[in-house]
Amino acid sequence: YTQRIDGEGAAAWDIHNRAVEKLRKGEDIIVLSMGDPDFDTPQPIVDAAIDSLRAGDTHYTDFTGEPELRQAIAQLHQQTTGQQVGIDNIVVLAGAQCALYCAAHCILDPGDEVIVPEPTYVTYEAVIGATGAKTINVPMDPDNGFRINIADFEAAITDKTRAIMLNSPHNPTGAALSVEDIKAIAELSIKHDLWVISDEVYASLVYDENHHSIAGLPGMAERAITINSLSKSHAMTGWRLGWIVGPESLSYHLGNMVTAMLYGVPTFIQKAAVVAINGSDTEVEAMRLAYRDRRDLVYKHLNAVTNLRCHQPAGGMFMMIDIRKSGLSAQQFANELLDREGVSALAGEAFGPSAAGHIRISLGVPCEVLEQACQRIAACFNAIMAEQ
Ligand code: PMP
Ligand code: GLN
Repeated sequence: YTQRIDGEGAAAWDIHNRAVEKLRKGEDIIVLSMGDPDFDTPQPIVDAAIDSLRAGDTHYTDFTGEPELRQAIAQLHQQTTGQQVGIDNIVVLAGAQCALYCAAHCILDPGDEVIVPEPTYVTYEAVIGATGAKTINVPMDPDNGFRINIADFEAAITDKTRAIMLNSPHNPTGAALSVEDIKAIAELSIKHDLWVISDEVYASLVYDENHHSIAGLPGMAERAITINSLSKSHAMTGWRLGWIVGPESLSYHLGNMVTAMLYGVPTFIQKAAVVAINGSDTEVEAMRLAYRDRRDLVYKHLNAVTNLRCHQPAGGMFMMIDIRKSGLSAQQFANELLDREGVSALAGEAFGPSAAGHIRISLGVPCEVLEQACQRIAACFNAIMAEQ
């Protein structure tokens, strides 16, 4: 077998699988290890899918996406990023994960390098590796709120660098790029003629500021590849609906890619996606406010515990809790937390060395459950401290 898709990505979920197993056995477990919204997909979206199936939309579809859906995406993208695009800039794919994979295959050759801020979402290494290219990690400092340092990016550029891969709001850190950040990265990408792949699946979940997207900046239209999906914004993780916005020439190559590996996202899902994008603003906003309340609750609760610190995420659906004072590695702490208190969280190491000493919890459960979880996390931490 090829080693190209090896990486730590799959192993990251071991603790999650262990938690789910315990849950199945009837143990009292709070699962915070997976980022999957607890909300149901809004009903009008579900109805649209059912109506579409009943109307006989059961045939092959427009491989790169139904024009009506791409039109809706174009408008949404314009609102979110400020970049003016048409349907020929857009290709619909089976979720952001599929979009990341396809985008990487269209622009990377073996031996190329891709600069990625680290901690990194767990799948990126395999996505880049599958093309034969190499991930070059640029660490972000937990003691500086996991913010990027542009000088580190510049220092990582070599003659093999083809792309910079961004994720804002960020999984797992919750950090969001500022206007200054994206301007500096845009300048760098233009100067060195690089692609920028920008994974913005949490763009609808920003809490304190507006979302800032690099695609809308001058000079970026020909090099920005923006990836988004309905998974988190509309609580549609299981529907597998995402997309890429990029230059028209990229759409051509993506079209070839789609023909080679997907033949398009099912029509009934695309029909539902049109309803999602054009008619669910109220539901999307309600979910954002619910996540914000959850974030505020956890932040307040955990920072009241002596020596336990958690980061205030600017966006997304995760929080990073700094457990370094416990003296344990995050993996050890996560195991103790699951075994002693029945709470599952991912160990920061899964996302890279800069996240060591942190555990990631998901905000995909109601406030009452999060409050319980906070009590258990604090109890676990305090017990470990008392045993030292
Ligand atoms: N990128 C990031 C940063 C993610 O957290 C996820 C998982 N939600 C994905 C991509 C994949 O999302 P999707 O469900 O749209 O494939
Ligand atoms: N993106 C989600 C997370 O980070 C889950 C993705 C998955 O593994 N299905 O938890």
